[in-house]
Amino acid sequence: MALNPAPRVAIPTYGRNLLRGLPEALYERPIVLTQPEPWDLVKDAFPNDRTQVHAVATMEHAVVQQVTASFGGGSAVFGIGGGSALDHAKFTAWKTGLPLVLVPSILSVDAAYTKAIGIREGSRVRYVGAMFPDHFLIDYGILQAADPLLNRAGVGDILSIFTALWDWREAGVRLGEFHDEGVATRSEALLHRMFDGAGEIGRCTEAGLHLLSELYVGEVVLCEMVGNARPEEGSEHYVAYCLEHQTRRHYLHGALVGMGVLLAGAYQGQDVVPVRKFLRDVQLDSSYKAVGTTGDEVRRCLLAMGDYVGQESQLLPGVFHFKGCIGPDDANAVMATAALGD
Ligand SMILES: [Zn+2]
Repeated sequence: MALNPAPRVAIPTYGRNLLRGLPEALYERPIVLTQPEPWDLVKDAFPNDRTQVHAVATMEHAVVQQVTASFGGGSAVFGIGGGSALDHAKFTAWKTGLPLVLVPSILSVDAAYTKAIGIREGSRVRYVGAMFPDHFLIDYGILQAADPLLNRAGVGDILSIFTALWDWREAGVRLGEFHDEGVATRSEALLHRMFDGAGEIGRCTEAGLHLLSELYVGEVVLCEMVGNARPEEGSEHYVAYCLEHQTRRHYLHGALVGMGVLLAGAYQGQDVVPVRKFLRDVQLDSSYKAVGTTGDEVRRCLLAMGDYVGQESQLLPGVFHFKGCIGPDDANAVMATAALGD
C-alpha cells in the first residue's frame, strides 16, 4: 500500500465578515443552503431580491435531489450552517457545477473539511461524489455566535486519535495491516497540539477556533494520505455507534466520542488521565449524564461490543476485535477507570 504524499484538501480563509470580501459575481443569483440561526447572522450580505434560500431540514437523498432541482439557475452555491447545510450545499454544487462557498456556523462537524458528500437513505448514511469548496470561510464572528458547546464538541474527532492510533498499531502487529509510523507520529502531534490549546478552545477564542480548524485540516490530510480513517477513527467510535444503535437516540457527537475515548482507552490499557484532564480543561463534559445516557446503558453496550463489531464487518479491527467479548468484570473495571459517573 502506497501513501499519497500530497492529497488535495480544502484550505480555509480565516477572519471576520468574510462573506463581504468575496467576488461580487458570486452574488448575482446566489443559492443558499442554510439554517434559521446562521441565516439570520449573514442575510444582510445577500441581495434579497435575487437570493434563493432553502432551510435544510433533512439530508434524505430524494428530498435533497428535489430541492436541488427546484432552484432556477444560479451564480454560486453557499452552504452556511451545520453539517446538513454544508453537505446539502456540496451536493447541490456537485450536481449543478456552480462555484461552492462553505461557511460552517459551528466546528463540531467536519463536513466542510472532507470532500465526501454525506446523504441519508433511511437510517443509513451514504457517501456520494466529492466536492471541494472554491471558498471556505472560517468566520470567527459566525462561530462565536453559536452555543460554545457546539464548537468545543469539535474536539471529539481529534481526541479520537488517542484510541485510534492504538488500534492501528495493534492491527499492524497482530494482523500485518499496513501501518505508517510517520503518519501515526504526525497524528499524535495533532493530539498534543490540541491538549496544549485546551483553554483557548474551551473559551472559543479566535486562537482556539483557529487551532481547532487547523487540526481538522491536518487530520484530513493524514487520512487522505493513508486512504482510510486509521489515523483518526477507531474503537471509541465503535462504542459510540453501538450505544446509538442500542438506545436509538442521537447524541452530541463530540461528547459521545469523548466518552468513547475514555472507555475504549481504558480497555486498551492506556493511561486515560491526560484525556480526562483535557476534557475538563476544554469544558466538554463527557459523563454519562451529560452525554445523555446512564451507567446501565453503557454497561450493556460494553457487554455487546464483541458481537457488535462482529456484525458490522466494515469496521476496521480494534481493541474489541482483538480482545473479544468483554465480561462483566472487565466492563466494571473499564467503567471504574473511565470514571464517567454511576
Ligand atoms: Zn466522529
